[in-house]
Amino acid sequence: MKLEDEHADAVVRICSYRRRSFDQITIIRRPYVTEAVQDSLEAAFHTPPTSGLSIFDYLPKEIMTMVLLNLDVLTFFRFRQVNRYARMLSTTAPEYKLIATYGLEGMRALLRSDCARRFTMMHVYHLLVTDRCALCGHFGGFLFLLTATRCCFKCLENSPKLCLISTTNFARRAGISTSQLSKSYRSTLRTVSGIYSVFKERDRRPKKLMLKAEAIAALAPQTVFKENSIANLLIPATDNKEQRYMACIAFPAYNRRTGRTDAGVSCRGCHFRAMRRNRSYGYDGEVFSTTEFLSHFSTCLEARTIWAATNQGMMGVHDSAFILRSSSLFGLE
Ligand SMILES: [Zn+2]
Ligand SMILES: [Zn+2]
Repeated sequence: MKLEDEHADAVVRICSYRRRSFDQITIIRRPYVTEAVQDSLEAAFHTPPTSGLSIFDYLPKEIMTMVLLNLDVLTFFRFRQVNRYARMLSTTAPEYKLIATYGLEGMRALLRSDCARRFTMMHVYHLLVTDRCALCGHFGGFLFLLTATRCCFKCLENSPKLCLISTTNFARRAGISTSQLSKSYRSTLRTVSGIYSVFKERDRRPKKLMLKAEAIAALAPQTVFKENSIANLLIPATDNKEQRYMACIAFPAYNRRTGRTDAGVSCRGCHFRAMRRNRSYGYDGEVFSTTEFLSHFSTCLEARTIWAATNQGMMGVHDSAFILRSSSLFGLE
């Protein structure tokens, strides 16, 4: 089945579900926070500009737009505040308009976590319009903020490339002070409040996180480490999944062909099959893009059975406790 098919939307609604607990344990999206300023982010002022941008006015508008899109996110927003003409120029770029409409929560997370200075607007645009996980190539519905990488939940939890350490823990194991560390290495992430756990008991949230391997590689040539401290840092510590959640936010991909965003779905049929086979809550871990799901639907006997049992979407589905709880493991484990 394809996206253009008459029943495509109904098939997705009836035969798939979305695991929202992933969104709850990463940085929580709060679109209502920016609702009041959404219009001003998407449009320039109604009053025409009365002043220009001095020497930059000599550049053709196309070149100026290219320059602006290659500014880092923080500088781009500061530039928008210079005057009405700057606001007008920055707003007209189609790439910016798409980010302001569909990728605002990801951009806001970059700004809140103090990572916005390291990535350009064009980079954020490319992240928005691709739906592939940069680490495994499957559908990736998340944005890992420290490296501004699109990733899937499996890679977020398990990839050695995304292994984090708090700056205080790193400094202690390296035998240096945190102020010395912050002077020598700046690619850190400021954590923001959130849940970050499926359990009631939570660890204390560290103030700053960094990529462990990247920090060791950057600092080793600077001879800031005390003797044997690199060996000390290389001893594998328990991988803290909660810290990985603190560096990530759900980031639906924008499909330029359909003009819709895609947050990824899982198959209801596969869920019921996994529940029967394993006698568990039945999560099979597979997340598809909408297009991938429709093609999976054609080959998934259980999903097609659900479709037939609901009289092609005319009746509701009897859901499991797992799906009714927004696909959360809270209270099930
Ligand atoms: Zn992945
Ligand atoms: Zn299936």
